Amino acid sequence: MHALLDVSGLQKVYEGSGRRVEAVRDLTFTVDTGELVCLVGPSGCGKTTLLKCMGGLLTPTSGEVLLEGRKVNGPPPGMALVFQEYGRSLFPWMRVGENVELPLKQKNMSRTQRRELVRDALESVGLADAAGAYPWQLSGGMQQRVAIARALAYEPQVLLMDEPFAAVDAQTRADLEDLVRGLWRERGITILFVTHDIDEAVYLGERVIVLSASPTVVQEQLKVDLPDERDQLHTRVAPRFAELRTHVYEQIQAAKRGEAEPGSPARSVT
Ligand code: ADP
Ligand code: MG
Repeated sequence: MHALLDVSGLQKVYEGSGRRVEAVRDLTFTVDTGELVCLVGPSGCGKTTLLKCMGGLLTPTSGEVLLEGRKVNGPPPGMALVFQEYGRSLFPWMRVGENVELPLKQKNMSRTQRRELVRDALESVGLADAAGAYPWQLSGGMQQRVAIARALAYEPQVLLMDEPFAAVDAQTRADLEDLVRGLWRERGITILFVTHDIDEAVYLGERVIVLSASPTVVQEQLKVDLPDERDQLHTRVAPRFAELRTHVYEQIQAAKRGEAEPGSPARSVT
């Protein structure tokens, strides 16, 4: 049995107009079916680059990404992505319901089946009544819920989320974090959630993969041994939460100073 997702020796160098940027140097990690894994790393460390390689939108310079043992060469049917810029990810001329339904048209299913998936997905994100609205009539947080619904309706094997809540206010962000954990628990969906926010990574994840600054390697992986039942009020003030976030913070600082020994992807700290 292989991991659902297997990233090995991934390197991405951007080249052009005489410039060479090694965004990602050497990333190796796996994600198992049903896991909720957070990847945390400083801005500019190559998180978006990594997700684009995983989603088949960019070709790695070396190394590879496997989904269920098969090499990713283009956007795989079993993957859905949610980006940070919700404003650019929904079509403004389509109603919410049509936006959510659009990717389903590639799938071989009846109109009734599609409508059922759309209804179910919008209900899951608390937007059952918004199907007829246009995205621009909704707040930023609601638009991001629509983007999540669109990904859910597609019934992906794995959901990749790239700093999806970086652009919304703190209260909305807290609600959306709980929404993601709730969906993960209810639907047993596999989620890889990328963020630069250490607290968010520890609050959400069952496991956190810490990335170094660019050129990026895996600095450390740690298991988050907080209870499954998490809430914004109690979890964030729990002593264990503080220990874990401090640990991750120190790792990122050490990586910046070049002190820690990166590249030991299997290390697991509890
Ligand atoms: P993050 O998402 O962690 O903030 P990115 O993956 O967006 O990081 O970027 C990583 C590095 O690669 C940065 O130095 C960025 O400037 C560079 N980069 C990203 N996209 C391109 C591109 N298309 N061409 C050249 N350099 C790029
Ligand atoms: Mg990014």
